[in-house]
Amino acid sequence: MDSSIDEAAAQPGGAVQTPPATPPRTPDPAMPAATEPAGEAAPRTNPVPAAGGAGAERSAAAPTSLSPSRASDFMQCPLLYRFRVIDRLPEKPSEAATRGTLVHAVLERLFDAPAGERTAPRAKALIPGQWDRLRESRPEVTELFADDPEGQRLAGWLAGAERLVERWFTLEDPTRLEPAERELFVEAELESGLRLRGIIDRVDVAPTGEVRIVDYKTGKAPRPEYAEGALFQMKFYALVVWRLKRVVPRRLQLVYLGSGDVLTYDPVLADLERVESKLHALWEAIGQATETGNWRPRPTKLCGWCDHQAHCPEFGGTPPPYPLPVTAPGPGTV
Ligand code: SF4
Repeated sequence: MDSSIDEAAAQPGGAVQTPPATPPRTPDPAMPAATEPAGEAAPRTNPVPAAGGAGAERSAAAPTSLSPSRASDFMQCPLLYRFRVIDRLPEKPSEAATRGTLVHAVLERLFDAPAGERTAPRAKALIPGQWDRLRESRPEVTELFADDPEGQRLAGWLAGAERLVERWFTLEDPTRLEPAERELFVEAELESGLRLRGIIDRVDVAPTGEVRIVDYKTGKAPRPEYAEGALFQMKFYALVVWRLKRVVPRRLQLVYLGSGDVLTYDPVLADLERVESKLHALWEAIGQATETGNWRPRPTKLCGWCDHQAHCPEFGGTPPPYPLPVTAPGPGTV
């Protein structure tokens, strides 16, 4: 499968499309999302007035669609989902997530070059320009290095991005790939009316029509017992592709640049049906929480990554007033 797609994709005339110019995106589900598909509420990285307050950029609204990142948020902690999707509380950019966004942009743009020129030096040479572009599109990321007047920390951070880009060349050979899509926005509506959306890093299509969905992660591969959680996002995308094209992707591939691992899974239709059922159950739970205002905190080790401890009852904080009408108050409404 791998080789058939790689070899086929390397042939001129394969299913190649000019990629649209897309904004930088988020690398790892465990990290706060920097960008999300248009239309889906996502964490803000700029301070804004409280939802509904004077001068608010956008009033709070009930969620209308689901992405893998936000579905993972709800599974991790319903209150975190509320803070991100409904309250839209601001979040600070992090060095790790921003580096992931930068590396994604570099890997995407490298495919603009002719196949034979997609080398590691060429990819690394793209980093400064993509960093400039990222700072232009998201000025808040410059805050990351505001206390680094000599530029030493920035230099180390950029060197880290170079190492991740270099490692990719040990895992895949871009001279033998001709992606059908890069940074592909996908959206599908299920019969229930639930809208699923997301952005797929790369789609490879063989002349036989076999589809491979590829996602880059700048972190390390999970231990085997956590692989299922890592594959959830990929099965989500596979479900959307199946709903759109009636084609079950042949392979799902996670490329971990942090540890130099590649995790693959070949889904079957039953996998996608299970994911669909899971998402329906998740959406029902989100709907109930939206109506009752009961968004329970679920503390885990991941709280260390959460920007909202000051608003979280588990850490002695108080959530902001719930900005939506409560139509069915329940016990424990937060
Ligand atoms: S600190 Fe932990 S429990 Fe509280 S909202 Fe964040 S993830 Fe949830």
